[in-house]
Amino acid sequence: MVVNAHPDDAEFGCGGTIARWAGGGREVVYVVCTNGDRGSSDPEMTSERLAAIRVKEQRAAAAALGVKEVIFLGYPDGGLEDTGAFREQLVRLIRKHRPEIVLTSNPHRRPFQHRDHRIVGTVTLDAVFPYARDRLYYPEHEAAGLATHKVREVYLWGTDEPDIVIDITGVMDKKLAALRCHVTQVGHRPEEIFRKFVCERAAAVGGLRGFTYGEGFLRIEFPP
Ligand SMILES: [Zn+2]
Repeated sequence: MVVNAHPDDAEFGCGGTIARWAGGGREVVYVVCTNGDRGSSDPEMTSERLAAIRVKEQRAAAAALGVKEVIFLGYPDGGLEDTGAFREQLVRLIRKHRPEIVLTSNPHRRPFQHRDHRIVGTVTLDAVFPYARDRLYYPEHEAAGLATHKVREVYLWGTDEPDIVIDITGVMDKKLAALRCHVTQVGHRPEEIFRKFVCERAAAVGGLRGFTYGEGFLRIEFPP
């Protein structure tokens, strides 16, 4: 399960990893928390129109990586808060989809980051542990037939000092193709410049472990 703040965060943060895992037969579900409706400098664009376009872009990008399902929570861009209601939504989805691994933004990225990235990382970690694991949190879930669930690992993207690097050399083209689906976000950049930007970053991370291209994460392992 990938929990991201905005359409396109997952492709930037872990698109290659998702392509590899989905290609290897793993089921991947996206939870896209905001609709990204502020992400435009086009004077003709409206939030309503942008939100509708970004849903389509996100579905296309997910399909390009082999993601099975995309769930949109529909919060406004910049509108995430660390609330009990948001946490309950994530706990419910974790208990329903029962992921082995959850991927999300590193909430402690230095020196700073988008507020939504910080909040989605924090609330997702809280939802995984202890809320989804322990049955007396949200007892209404049990009454509705949703059992507790222990996530095995959380991978946090957005770190300069990863403790795990996934080799994405063989799927770099898929990551690039998925990113290009986000036309409202990357469409203004010429293909060659964009490709160079993404490949240079992936090469720097991959180089930490001797791979041509890589994606790096902080990994949290929970005891069984
Ligand atoms: Zn974002």
